[in-house]
Amino acid sequence: MPLRHDHWIAGKAEAPAGGAYLPTIDPATRQPGDEVARGTAADVDRAVTAAADAQTDWARAAGADRSEALHRVADAIEDGSAELMDVERACTGKLPGQLRLEVDMSAAYFRYYAGVLRSVGGRTIDLGAGNHTYTRLEPYGVVAAITPWNLPLNQACRALAPALAAGNAVVAKPSELTSTSTLLLARLATEAGLPDGVLNVVTGTGPEAGTPLAAHPTVRRIAFTGSVATGRHLATVAADRLVPLTLELGGKSPLVVFADGDLDRAVAAAVGAVAFNAGQVCSATTRLLVEATVHDEVAARVVDAVARLEPGVDFGPMITEAQYDKVLDHLAAARVSGLAPATGGGAYEDGPAAAGLYVRPTVFVGVPPEAPLAREEIFGPVLVTMPFADEPDAVARANDTDYGLVAGVWSGDVARGLRVAERIEAGQVAVNGGALTIETPFGGFKQSGYGREKGIEALHDYAQTKTISLSLD
Ligand code: ADP
Repeated sequence: MPLRHDHWIAGKAEAPAGGAYLPTIDPATRQPGDEVARGTAADVDRAVTAAADAQTDWARAAGADRSEALHRVADAIEDGSAELMDVERACTGKLPGQLRLEVDMSAAYFRYYAGVLRSVGGRTIDLGAGNHTYTRLEPYGVVAAITPWNLPLNQACRALAPALAAGNAVVAKPSELTSTSTLLLARLATEAGLPDGVLNVVTGTGPEAGTPLAAHPTVRRIAFTGSVATGRHLATVAADRLVPLTLELGGKSPLVVFADGDLDRAVAAAVGAVAFNAGQVCSATTRLLVEATVHDEVAARVVDAVARLEPGVDFGPMITEAQYDKVLDHLAAARVSGLAPATGGGAYEDGPAAAGLYVRPTVFVGVPPEAPLAREEIFGPVLVTMPFADEPDAVARANDTDYGLVAGVWSGDVARGLRVAERIEAGQVAVNGGALTIETPFGGFKQSGYGREKGIEALHDYAQTKTISLSLD
């Protein structure tokens, strides 16, 4: 019998009102895994009510106390990391190194915002004699966090930590395919002393649990990470009640390599975009734009390295069957249109990888910019290369996309690197491998969404500014 996981509401496990559960699979083997509660509007209502009941005291607590509580959640994630990695692996098939990174980052989000909340606040405004005027950062109340399956725990913590730090209570709705790590997080947080109701988790499908959550009259803010289509739908749901939301959507991010760049590191970055989480990352830089004089050489090196990546060793499976089919459909359509991969290009026919949802790491060299492969987010281990002529052409090609999440630039001319970075329409640009961390605000331009996660900006996004002015006369 598969294990059944219930919702986590007001500090305890709660069975779904409808009594139904949803299956999961291990994508590394396609074997059935645990089941999770199939939540409906009734469950959502219970969770939102619990959150609203808990939120006032949470918001009124001294910042130092809230900070201490979030540090204890970070401790609990670190202490429970083996169990968290285990449940995450069971429904994602991820590799140990990837799991370790994601769980460590999850703890780090709580640690970071526990610190930020003690040092970020309102300001006083000098209106001259006769007034004392100041601002406060106040929470919205109940925040809904709807999160995807690609980095399940990590994406949840990225939204939860700043939302809780700002004094909100949260109802999380993880992907129905990968809910168990978020449920375990909530249990660990409760055991670590987070007050009941401050963090609740309702599992279930998007239409049955996600939409009722976003539409609930008590939810005052929404954090969403996922597809453009669902983001657009949730934005209309939120618009109905004028509820603000953060949308972290897709990307088709460019990696711009000039001939004078550090080509070894640029090649490694391109290969990393294919291997890291098997390309199932919204920020994957899977459009490799290379200065024409070195394009063929760089492309050949990338192809050679990508061809040596091994399933189950260097990269994991597609996490969902739908995504596996979608990536294979992209590859089949590319072939029909006359594009041939330089390496990869389909599924594994035999060996252990054929039993799981593994896709061969794939590179298409010299793809026309109008080809769907060069324009659509594939969300798999698929990279395309394109030559560019000069700096203006590099910028134009980098911006020739509906998306604008991240970009990478490699150049030995630092001024040029920064010039190009300033002209690329994207929320984050790494020049010569510059670090992008929890401290650096993350979020999209264009169809990649709006609002900012990470950094002090996220805390501001989960708070609303109130001005209080006192007449001294
Ligand atoms: P993907 O296409 O990568 O699976 P989705 O945007 O469909 O990404 O899923 C991201 C999250 O959004 C998941 O938690 C999913 O359940 C939720 N979701 C999907 N469809 C809806 C919907 N119609 N309303 C609310 N949430 C949804």
